Amino acid sequence: MKGLPSVERAIAVFSRFPGIGKKSAGRMIYHILRYGEQDIEQLLQTLQALRDRVTSCKICHNLAEGDICWVCEDNRRDSSLLCVLEEPSDLMAFEKAGFFKGTYHVLGGRLNPLDDVGPEQLNFASLEQRLLKGGIKELVIATNPTVEGEATAHFVAQMASSSGCKVTRLAYGLPMGGELEYLDESTLYQALNGRREF
Ligand SMILES: [Zn+2]
Repeated sequence: MKGLPSVERAIAVFSRFPGIGKKSAGRMIYHILRYGEQDIEQLLQTLQALRDRVTSCKICHNLAEGDICWVCEDNRRDSSLLCVLEEPSDLMAFEKAGFFKGTYHVLGGRLNPLDDVGPEQLNFASLEQRLLKGGIKELVIATNPTVEGEATAHFVAQMASSSGCKVTRLAYGLPMGGELEYLDESTLYQALNGRREF
């Protein structure tokens, strides 16, 4: 792509998407280059709306449009059952499967000292506040079954130990190193249903 720095830059930006290599990024860019004015405008507005409107829920740190996300807003959810997850995408996997009727707390990642992710970088303080407030009977730890996810689960369990609520962990039919968001619904259902005291 010598002589086309804009195209080269666009390919570099698009190949940062998960699962998208340079080749796929190139195909996307050539597709966009064939767009008319209206399609380009729509693409720009879509990205702008993501930037301007999507925020983090003030209660659970899920993605939200406004202060509170749709789960926290829904008073039919069981607020005594709290599921702790790493990312909003994990939450979406649960919501897509549709069987979990409790509420969530999104940590925003997992503990990873090698990448300088300590407890201060994650949403632990607000989790502690929610536990202190009381009313939570069971805390389901649904961090990913990776080494860092396990370390994070232990940290959460320790934090919850003084709150008096029951602490459970998703069952390990889950493949080690697997990520929740890629699990099919029935595996996720079994993992939740078979959860054990942690
Ligand atoms: Zn929320």
